[in-house]
Formats: sequence, C-alpha cells, structure tokens
Amino acid sequence: MFTRILVANRGEIALRIIRACRDLGIDAIAVYSRADRDAAYLNLAHDAICIGGESPTQSYLNAAAIISAAELTDVQAIHPGYGFLAENARFAQMCRDCRIEFIGPSPEAMQALGDKVAARKLAKQAKVPCVPGSPGNVDSEDEAVAIAEKLGYPVMIKAAAGGGGRGMRPAHNEATLRTSFKHARAEAEAAFKDGSLYVEKLIERPRHVEVQLLGDRKGNVIHLWERDCSLQRRHQKLVEESPSPHISARTRAKLCAAAVRLARAAGYYSAGTCEFLVDERENFYFIEVNARIQVEHPVTELVTGEDLVQWQIRIAAGEPLKLKQDQVHQSGHALECRINAESPEDGFRPSPGPIQRLILPGGPGVRVDTHAYAGYNVSPFYDSMVAKLLVHRATRADAIRAMRRALAEFVIGPIQTTIPLHRAIMEQADFVRGRVDTGFIERTFGASERGKS
Ligand code: ADP
Ligand code: ADP
Ligand code: MG
Repeated sequence: MFTRILVANRGEIALRIIRACRDLGIDAIAVYSRADRDAAYLNLAHDAICIGGESPTQSYLNAAAIISAAELTDVQAIHPGYGFLAENARFAQMCRDCRIEFIGPSPEAMQALGDKVAARKLAKQAKVPCVPGSPGNVDSEDEAVAIAEKLGYPVMIKAAAGGGGRGMRPAHNEATLRTSFKHARAEAEAAFKDGSLYVEKLIERPRHVEVQLLGDRKGNVIHLWERDCSLQRRHQKLVEESPSPHISARTRAKLCAAAVRLARAAGYYSAGTCEFLVDERENFYFIEVNARIQVEHPVTELVTGEDLVQWQIRIAAGEPLKLKQDQVHQSGHALECRINAESPEDGFRPSPGPIQRLILPGGPGVRVDTHAYAGYNVSPFYDSMVAKLLVHRATRADAIRAMRRALAEFVIGPIQTTIPLHRAIMEQADFVRGRVDTGFIERTFGASERGKS
C-alpha cells in the first residue's frame, strides 16, 4: 500500500480524498492555488504546497507544477479528483513516465473513452445501445443537415470533447441546426480547445441513469448499481438518487450488464461511470463514460456501504478487487442535493463571496461533504459547488422527508445558494411521485436559460 499520496484538486473532493487517506493510514499532501491559501482542509493534510496563481491554468491545470510538487514531496501516487486533470490522458501518461501512480484508469482506457465519438464506437462494438447519431465527427453544417434529415428532427449537436454540460445544443429544424452548429463549435473550441462535433437524436423527456463501475488491474469489473441524475439545470446535475425511481428491475439489470461490458471492452480499471439516457418506454441509450470519481459518488456509497475513494486507492496500489458482484447490494434509498453558490432566481448566476453564517444539518441519515466554514470566502475562480447534502433512509419517501428536515436546518449566508430551490423541489408533487425527466427543473422553475454561459 502507498504511504504518501498527492491530492491534485481543491474544494470538497480534496477533503474527501484526504479523509480516505487518513482512514487508510496514508499521508496526504495537498496542493493549493493562491486563491485557496485559506482552505481549512489544508490543515488536515500532512503537508500542503502552493502550485501557482488563482486561475486554474496557473495551478490545478498546471501539470508541470503538480508533478514538481509530487517529486518534491516524494509521493508514490496522485489522486486527481474530478474536473481539472482527472480525465487528461496526457497527464496520466506523464505520471506513468515519472513513475508516479495515477489514481484512475490507464491513459489508454482514458483515451479510448475520453472522446465521446470514440467511446460511442467502442460501445457499439460491445453491443451497448447508443443514442442514434452520426457514425463519427461531423465536419460541416451541410453534413450535419444531411445526418439530421436521416435521423429526423429534433437532434442534439454535441462536442466530442464535451463535459460539464457545455458544447451541447438542440436543433428542431434546419435553420436552428445551422446556428446551433456554429454556437456549439465556438463553445467547444473555447471550453475544450477542440471544436469536434457530432450529432445525436434528441431523446424526448429522457431520464439520466448512470452505472457506477469498479475494476481492478487484473481485469475484474463489477458494478455498484445505478444513480438517477435526471434533475438537471443546463445539462448539469442538481439532485441525484439511488435507486432510480424510474426503472424496472429488468431494465436495471440490463443497464448494469451493458456498463460492465463496455468497461471490459475498454480494459477499464479504477472507479468510473457509464451514463445512459432512458426514454419513457425504458429503452436506454449510452451517452458517455466519466473516467474518474464523480461528484455524486457518495449516493452510491450510502446505498452500498462501500468507500469508492478507498477502492480507487487500493486498486491503484495493485490490490485485487476483493468485492464480488453478489456482495454488492442496494440498501435503502439515498438522495443528494448539490448546494451551489448561485442564484436560481437569476438564471443560476454564480454568487461568490464570504460565508459569514454556516450551520450544517445533522441527525439520523444525514451526510454533508463540504470544505466550507464560517469565514470561508467562496472564490469566483472555480466551480460554484460549496456542499453536497446527502440523506440515506429505508425508503424514497423517508429519504425525501429527511432531506426536507436537513434543508430546513441548513443555514448559509449571506451568499445565495440553491437551498431554496432544493426545498421547493422536495415539495413538488411530480418529484415526490418520482415523475421527473431532465427538463423538469427548467419546466417547473423556469428562467434558467438566462444565465446560460
Ligand atoms: P459529474 O457531476 O457527474 O461528476 P460533471 O460533468 O458535472 O460530472 O463534472 C464534474 C466536474 O468536472 C464539474 O466541476 C465540471 O465543471 C468539471 N468538468 C467536467 N468535464 C469537464 C471538462 N471537460 N473540462 C473541464 N471541467 C470539466
Ligand atoms: P456532459 O459530458 O456535458 O456531461 P453528456 O453527454 O453526459 O454531457 O450529457 C449531459 C446531459 O445532457 C444529459 O444528462 C442530458 O440531460 C442531456 N443530453 C445529452 N445528450 C442528449 C440527447 N441526445 N438527447 C437529450 N438530452 C441529451
Ligand atoms: Mg455527462
């Protein structure tokens, strides 16, 4: 087992990884940008190293600075968390070249799955159903129009390198397709330095259901059941739960088996997620693989009782996956609300600034993952998520009640957050009945497109 790990991330996920290291008796080395020098979790790390300026390119995306910090502190492995360098195959290769274990999949698996067009091809080979769409990249508007006519409108134009809901535009006819194509390309180039696009059929009123995977370096792959992440705004998740209230046991089994097939075909190890859209008739379609730990991983930890970050570390250290498929059970129901420093009334505009008051909820079945504290300043340089509030109860109805209780206890100010929206969601009749799709928040609470970046 490792004795020392570098945590190449910030915020709640850096804290989450430091906690896993402490549980395993491993020294965690934290890194921070100049904007994060007051982060409280730096005190929980064995050591902390400044890696550069405020902007992500100067610090958390600065591979050379991170590798230098790893060399200086003599760590055996780097945990990349999510976002930043987590899905960067070149960074994983750099780690390998420097003889530092990258706590994640191999650079080869990341390459095979990182580009969504490549991942779709692999999924088809593994007999995993994909959203009908273009066979490869679509290079011109005219080509996009030809494909859309074949698929039938509406379609979705998507960035092959996409992530975080960006570089994605719907089109309902040829005219909107042509403008959407231009916008998607510009957005993809700005966000990912890669303007490659492809076209998919737009699935109407879909549910987002994803499967948590774990694989080891000996070729063992298991799933840890599904999460439902249909509650989104701007194609980004806001509420997640497990089990999915939308699918039958039969669909659940088929989805999980398909995800495992794809992971095996990619030679995947570590933790990963296979995302699907599920339509009203429970047909499911692969959309992408997230080759990393996900924001919403604690939902699965609550229902299965497994520690996913510890598993990632054990697998990277070469341990075989002792956990067998028939030992993984979904027990009870877990819900997560992402508490973001943003204003839902104002198009989810980010609302950074100092937190003066903070009272975290507690009691039976509540888990809060946060790096925030009273006096903490939410920086405008990074993601707006300040906390993840989770509950775990015997049934979905009990979990909703516990979430209402926890949201009522949660005090954070004076910054604006998504808490009032979450309170409203937990009361909403369709949500309580489990009848939601990815358009639910925008349909029910509206006005969210105004702040679209
Ligand atoms: P999930 O929430 O399921 O883990 P997301 O796609 O929402 O996945 O991304 C998680 C985090 O990673 C977010 O902070 C998001 O902004 C960031 N992220 C995802 N993809 C990219 C990307 N290609 N480039 C930069 N950041 C990304
Ligand atoms: P990202 O990499 O940004 O997470 P995904 O491909 O995972 O992108 O899609 C994110 C979300 O966008 C989905 O959960 C869904 O809400 C919406 N979406 C993506 N593709 C389609 C599609 N073909 N039809 C309808 N909605 C889609
Ligand atoms: Mg996704």
